[in-house]
Amino acid sequence: MTQTAHGVEFTRQPSENPKSAEERAAILANPGFGNYFTDHTAIVDYSVDADGNGGWHDARIEPYGPIVLDPSAAVFHYGQEIFEGLKAYRHADGSVWTFRPEANAARLNKSARRLALPELPAEYFLGAIRELVAVDKEWVPAGDGEALYLRPFMIATEAFLGVRAAREVSFRVIASPAGNYFGGELKPVSIWISRQYARAGRGGTGDAKCGGNYAASLIAQQEAEANGCKQVLFLDQANDNAVEELGGMNVFFVMKDGSLATPALTGTILEGVTRMSVIQVAKDMGREVSERKITLDEWRDGVASGDITEVFACGTAAVITPIGVLKDTTEFIGSEDAKAGETTMAIREKLLGIQTGAEPDTHGWLTRLA
Ligand SMILES: *Cc1c(COP(=O)(O)O)cnc(C)c1O
Repeated sequence: MTQTAHGVEFTRQPSENPKSAEERAAILANPGFGNYFTDHTAIVDYSVDADGNGGWHDARIEPYGPIVLDPSAAVFHYGQEIFEGLKAYRHADGSVWTFRPEANAARLNKSARRLALPELPAEYFLGAIRELVAVDKEWVPAGDGEALYLRPFMIATEAFLGVRAAREVSFRVIASPAGNYFGGELKPVSIWISRQYARAGRGGTGDAKCGGNYAASLIAQQEAEANGCKQVLFLDQANDNAVEELGGMNVFFVMKDGSLATPALTGTILEGVTRMSVIQVAKDMGREVSERKITLDEWRDGVASGDITEVFACGTAAVITPIGVLKDTTEFIGSEDAKAGETTMAIREKLLGIQTGAEPDTHGWLTRLA
């Protein structure tokens, strides 16, 4: 039994067949994204007792492995599931840190409320991450742009086919060493406009981080890939084709006057921790940032007139990715041989610098894990 700094106790059942140092080194030499997982997983279960009182219990570290669930478990039928994504970074002195985990803990609970799942006290969220990274700290890569990607998630495990919120739930964290998300150099990507499909609608789950949103976006992502694009852009077609976001990243525009603009949070956009950090970092650099409505027309006309000088996407997995082209069968905005913009790169450097310890953490965004 180990006590975390936050007072939640996690029992530890160490893996009997962890990867050898050689196997781990081979994986860390070229981790890719989401391909390999560490030796352990963190788990906290929730159940409602006969009196109707719910509670979290059995916080533990177990060997990484399959989850055994009843085939009638609610998650398989009604998609009652939410997740998070954050990273652990190895600093030059070997210490391991994570970035704004309390923001992820708060967002998990916002998602939980929307999906009628129980809220998880932040000390369990932070404790699970701390404990998992403590046992698997050798898995945190040290290379440039590399990190240990942490994937907390919560699933409805109750065996019951009736349609209501489950009374048994499991919160887990898995960890995966990650290289550069889009692979290789930081080349601007081409983005496909989704006209036929939306990922979110008014009153829906667009501002919750749930698997269902991703399930709904995959067909549009396939269409994008079939048209040679890396990602898909979703528009609010009922609102003048207002720009929303990519399947899993928020979007920013750099204007001629040096200011930034990003779509305002309307309820159909997921509020990224990277988005909120980019806004702060840009302000720290003396730039104005507006959160407002930006339409497809403004994007096209702004790029043509030079009012918009750079466009980029942001999210934890890929940090900041320049957008070179936005297109579909009727639009072609930007240029195939666009280079990553100066402002995009400056913000990326600054943000990565804070995360990796190369820049001062003036906002207290880092939490030491190991
Ligand atoms: C996770 C996610 C993002 C990015 O959020 P970060 O906290 O910056 O990683 C953006 N859009 C969607 C739909 C997401 O699921």
